[in-house]
Amino acid sequence: SNRIMLGPLVAAIDQGTSSTRFLVFNAKTAELLSHHQVEIQQSFPKEGWVEEDPKEILQSVYECMDRTCEKLTQLNIDISNIKAIGVTNQRETTLVWDKETGEPLYNAIVWLDLRTQSTVERLINKTPGRNKNHLKHKTGLPISTYFSAVKLRWLMDNVEDVHKAVLSHRAMFGTVDSWLIWCLTGGKKGGVHCTDVTNASRTMLFNIHTMDWDPDLCNYFDIPMEILPKVRSSSEIYGLMVSPDLFFRKITCWDQSAALVGQMCFQDGQAKNTYGTGCFLLRNTGSKPVMSDHGLLTTVAYKLGRDKPACYALEGSVAIAGAVVRWLKDNLGIIQTSTELEKLAAGVGTSYGCYFVPAFSGLYAPYWEPSARGIICGLTQFTNKSHLAFAALEAVCFQTREILDAMNQDSGIPLNQLQVDGGMTSNRLLMQLQADILCIPVVKPSMPETTALGAAMAAGAAEGVSVWSLSPEDLTEVTSEKFEPQINPEESEFRYARWKKAVQRAMNWET
Ligand code: ADP
Repeated sequence: SNRIMLGPLVAAIDQGTSSTRFLVFNAKTAELLSHHQVEIQQSFPKEGWVEEDPKEILQSVYECMDRTCEKLTQLNIDISNIKAIGVTNQRETTLVWDKETGEPLYNAIVWLDLRTQSTVERLINKTPGRNKNHLKHKTGLPISTYFSAVKLRWLMDNVEDVHKAVLSHRAMFGTVDSWLIWCLTGGKKGGVHCTDVTNASRTMLFNIHTMDWDPDLCNYFDIPMEILPKVRSSSEIYGLMVSPDLFFRKITCWDQSAALVGQMCFQDGQAKNTYGTGCFLLRNTGSKPVMSDHGLLTTVAYKLGRDKPACYALEGSVAIAGAVVRWLKDNLGIIQTSTELEKLAAGVGTSYGCYFVPAFSGLYAPYWEPSARGIICGLTQFTNKSHLAFAALEAVCFQTREILDAMNQDSGIPLNQLQVDGGMTSNRLLMQLQADILCIPVVKPSMPETTALGAAMAAGAAEGVSVWSLSPEDLTEVTSEKFEPQINPEESEFRYARWKKAVQRAMNWET
């Protein structure tokens, strides 16, 4: 047949909170050749609880790989040219499985989950001076419901099967990357139990200076180190994919910060914001872990090879961004699809003084307040669902402004434009509002799958096939769209000040 000769291809599994994707790129040009996407069910078994089914997650990966390969074959592209596969994933989401049966012992507890709120409050109360930053010097993180250690502790304390499996040395802990890699490299018949430094840095068990699991932290949370995966760099071959049979590819992984590489933010000071279920603004700080004085996290951005130095980032995490759109759709039913939101909000072009703080999972950066709850205020007889839709989009922009302000204060050098990516960036109204509220331009690459691209690039580099070899110059021709601020800064400040007032009300909800 007329097979198209493209040379080496690289692929990425992008396992997000809302969906799973498999994407295949040309290793020479970074062109996206084909992809497939499958939605993931979330369950909310109790107030504040968020779970996903580990088997469904795995199944969605198989389905996306199968369908993408079918599409490539239809395009006459030879799938045997896929040389390496990178994994990027929702972070912090916590799983425990039995290494002898291969079975998950509970659902995956999703990062947004609030069930550990009382544990977190108890831990903070026990620290000298009730200091939520008690472990920050080692982990870069505040003690919060967000990170894996408290979720793992909950599983060990509350799920009999997990407790038993830990005692009988059959338990394996992992974030979604570890679960997938273990399954794809053979599972109970010799799967590789590993993670990368970026995912490890979100567990609260990892020391970001020594770049390894920290025995004192494991002691603090009373977690046996034998259940933890082995920590590797973000760009090396972890093992061979043996399942599905179609594949026999080498596999590597890292987390969300892959978008820094996908967006070519290799320089100290470069930043990007990803708009998915939540929002994650990362700013590269180079080889030094910079500790924030303004409520940001210090996290490992990447380590591109076993002997390469680690690069760190300051991160502002917003729990609820795209999730508020899903809430308007699934819980209120005021839209049928997430794309309808833009039209609804654009119809009025204002929130008419309505402010919506979607603190469904408490507030993350810069507040780290698990007891905050959502609030909609400023309602009048006049307010309708379009205003509410607009307020929801504005909420995403205001939350980003708060973390950008914190980032500028920490670094002393204000960002003069913001690079963006993620599912929500297809909403043009949101992008314009973001530029208006930040008073700086917002720049969106025409290929928005930058997280997957970053993971595929790292995988390719590990296999020596990535011809653009992580060199920013090679991608300068990447086209992008720029949104310039259109409202005057006074108007922007006025709305932002109102938002801050609304946040104060959400914060003090329980007292
Ligand atoms: P994740 O990686 O967290 O799974 P994605 O980057 O795939 O997330 O983005 C999906 C999120 O973006 C969903 O929460 C969805 O509600 C939201 N979203 C997608 N398209 C739009 C749109 N046009 N307008 C607003 N929100 C959107």
